[in-house]
Amino acid sequence: MIDNIVGVAIYSVPDLIMVKVNQKYLDFHDFPYNQMETSIGLSIREIVTGYTGTESDAITRTVLKTQKSSYRKEIKFERFERGITYWDTTRTPIFESGKIKYMLLTTSDVTERVLKNQRIERQNKVIEQQKEQLEQKNTQLNGILENLSEGVILSDHEGKYIMRNKEARNLIYQSEELIDLGDSFNTTKYFDMEGNRISFENLPGIRALKGEIVKNVKMHVINPEKEYFINNSAIPIHNTKGELTTVVSCFHDITDIIQQSNKIEHQNKELLIAEKEKNEILKREIEMKDEFLSLISHEFRTPLTVINSAIQAMELICKNELSDKAKGFLNKIRQNSNRQLKLVNNLLDITRMNAGHFKINKTNIDIVLFTRSIAESITIFAEQKRIKLSFSSTLKKKIMGVDDEKYERILLNLLSNAIKFTPEGQSVTVKLFQKIVNGKRMVCIQVKDNGIGIPDEKKELIFERFGQVDTYRTRQAEGTGIGLHLVKMFVEVMGGEIGLESEVGKGSVFTILLPIEKVKEISIEKMPVEITNQRLIQAKAIEFSDIYF
Ligand code: ADP
Repeated sequence: MIDNIVGVAIYSVPDLIMVKVNQKYLDFHDFPYNQMETSIGLSIREIVTGYTGTESDAITRTVLKTQKSSYRKEIKFERFERGITYWDTTRTPIFESGKIKYMLLTTSDVTERVLKNQRIERQNKVIEQQKEQLEQKNTQLNGILENLSEGVILSDHEGKYIMRNKEARNLIYQSEELIDLGDSFNTTKYFDMEGNRISFENLPGIRALKGEIVKNVKMHVINPEKEYFINNSAIPIHNTKGELTTVVSCFHDITDIIQQSNKIEHQNKELLIAEKEKNEILKREIEMKDEFLSLISHEFRTPLTVINSAIQAMELICKNELSDKAKGFLNKIRQNSNRQLKLVNNLLDITRMNAGHFKINKTNIDIVLFTRSIAESITIFAEQKRIKLSFSSTLKKKIMGVDDEKYERILLNLLSNAIKFTPEGQSVTVKLFQKIVNGKRMVCIQVKDNGIGIPDEKKELIFERFGQVDTYRTRQAEGTGIGLHLVKMFVEVMGGEIGLESEVGKGSVFTILLPIEKVKEISIEKMPVEITNQRLIQAKAIEFSDIYF
């Protein structure tokens, strides 16, 4: 009683009047006179608020009736102002001469403990529920994983297997016990798509175990049971502290796809080989045709040169003996043999070019003077068609490396075309100027006419071998469609380029760009016209041979 560890009170029986009490007991009750002196002599109903009808009342009655002690735990009492309380309480009857004289009552307030236990219980319930939910999710997840068409392996941070789903078990060789990630390496060989063996350290799962995210590694797998291809990805999973906890390795069988693409690749290869063979045959055929063309052209050329020389001799020696009529016939013979010669020469150049036997022979010449002399030399042809031919240059002189013979043919071809496709009374102009293209100094030669023009869709075609705009339409003059093809080739082998602007009915401008570069040579800065005078006369006659004035 004095130690105040538990509340103790003694009530007299049967009136239940308090005869002895300690402070602990009074403190426990919601009792206004919680002084020991004032409480002695009060009945239990006065001391315990709303005592009658409570569980405490019922217990007391039972004790008095049964005359046996009672120990009750955690009795709930709701009638105090301070709210719900819980008590552990004992009732012990004290006998005198065989009759109950007193009842000893102990109480200890266990509200805090009970509430704490209730809290824990509630928490446990929540945990239990969460556990249940988790288990449910786990089952669902396992169900999903198990039925995935993708093979899935989970391992812990040391690489120990946690789970392998059905597809994984199906693909991996099963006859030995696999404990750690990568154990399959003992019986299974892994190769990359180039056929190189993949080392243990480079297996996607092992790489992920070191923290790497590995995606879509295609592997050829050979185990004692089967051979197949897989696409393997592996990812490390970390906890909130950043520690690696799990490695997930996923893979699926791509054997069908690989086989299919191998098949296609094989077919493509075969097709390519067949195509190559076809091309080879075609190439050989073209070469043969070119050889034949070259042979024939040579054969044509010899008698033609003889005919040409004979005509020249006749003109020189027998000029006075010939009648005008005979001179007319002779003229026709000369013009036509020149046409033949033009064709033969062009064909020979093309075949030489195709066979790679073509040589460029650059010498340093004054391109301005050279161009002017070529342009002026054909004034006579222009005049016959009443075409005004003019030449202008922004440069006075420009010495540079040019293959004069090829340049002469380029310009003569462009000029003969300009005159050929320009109606009488119109004009043809040749312009020369300097231009910087991609930081490089170039000389630019333009041949412009007011002729029939070239439609857009034919602008590329005319630079092709035998390319003509319209065979019937252009029949106002003869031609073979080889000239521009050769011109383009000549320009390109000289390191230049050719361009065309044209509008139907308005005219055309052919532009040639040649690099301004000097060549190393035993410099001959001679007057090109002088050296090549005879050649120019001949070239002119040949180039203009298919225009009938
Ligand atoms: P050819 O003149 O011998 O037919 P080219 O290769 O020199 O061969 O010319 C190819 C074609 O390009 C010509 O047939 C003609 O249709 C067209 N062509 C070339 N130059 C001109 C031009 N200045 N004006 C209009 N058409 C042209």
